[in-house]
Amino acid sequence: MSHAQATRVQEHIGDPVSDLPEVSREQLKEIFQDIQSDIRYDHELNGCLNCGICTATCPAAHYYDFSPREIVQLLWTENLEGIYDAMQEKIWACAQCYTCAARCPFGNSPGGLVMLMREASIKHGMESAKNVLRPFSRVMLKLISTGNQLSPDMITADGFADWGPNVSKIDAPLPVLRKAIPMPTLNTTKTAWEVNLKTSVELYTIWEETGVLDQLETIDENLFDVILDIMDEKREDLEDWEDEQED
Ligand code: SF4
Ligand code: SF4
Repeated sequence: MSHAQATRVQEHIGDPVSDLPEVSREQLKEIFQDIQSDIRYDHELNGCLNCGICTATCPAAHYYDFSPREIVQLLWTENLEGIYDAMQEKIWACAQCYTCAARCPFGNSPGGLVMLMREASIKHGMESAKNVLRPFSRVMLKLISTGNQLSPDMITADGFADWGPNVSKIDAPLPVLRKAIPMPTLNTTKTAWEVNLKTSVELYTIWEETGVLDQLETIDENLFDVILDIMDEKREDLEDWEDEQED
């Protein structure tokens, strides 16, 4: 091993976002292995020329201290401390637009790699993931309990003031736009959020089997408890309904 490599490696790294104890090298390895072992990893990362085309076309790079080129280089060179450091804040700046994937001459998907890093940060209960997701607990509750969160009738100028003046463009012909959306049952919050009992229970089974609920427990225990209660209630309701059908 060269001298430069030997001095770069740290046995422990501090967590700049929280007061948690330093993270050991073993934990850094485990986090990286979780990212690398994902089935998507080899599709998203094929090498890197360090050309910067991804960063030049990345909207997030224009506004934040974030560079998809840097993210790809950290993963490509297996820089464990740098990967961990980027997972504290930088990866949450990505808008998931995938312009980078369309432009990379190597066929990499920096946005896809960011997604893998985000998933790993949730799995490891990192403070950055908790901080980013905390304001979205109501959204997650709706998403997990109904399978959807946004219906066209919610998109109004009042509801989305943060979209700026352009929201009026979608707000104006809303009845026409609703008709143009091919799934009639999702046209309003009422129909979008009224989920068939059997569908709800199947949905919960998917969240359980795919590990989504385990991840939720890691980052938001209160929300996890609320969702478990809802799930139990729906399962009981379905059993009662099935019993009634047999009578
Ligand atoms: S990920 Fe692709 S576009 Fe970005 S620096 Fe590497 S080779 Fe260039
Ligand atoms: S997906 Fe993320 S990294 Fe890629 S161009 Fe969009 S914002 Fe940038």
